[in-house]
Amino acid sequence: MPAVPKRRTPRSRGNRRTASNYRSPSLPTLVACEKCGELVQPYHVCPNCGQYRGRQVLEAKEE
Ligand SMILES: [Zn+2]
Repeated sequence: MPAVPKRRTPRSRGNRRTASNYRSPSLPTLVACEKCGELVQPYHVCPNCGQYRGRQVLEAKEE
C-alpha cells in the first residue's frame, strides 16, 4: 500500500511552505576587493581596479 496523505494540505499551509523556499532575488552577494576594497561580486574581476586574485586582468581605470 503506498503512502497517501491523510488530509489535503490547506492552501494557507502550502503557500507558507512555498514562501519559505522562496529567496527574494534582491541584492547579489558582494565581497570586498582584495586590492582596492571595492564591493565586487565574488569570483568576478573587480571592475574598479581590474584585478582578480592578485592578477591584473583588465586595464585599471586610473593609475
Ligand atoms: Zn578592486
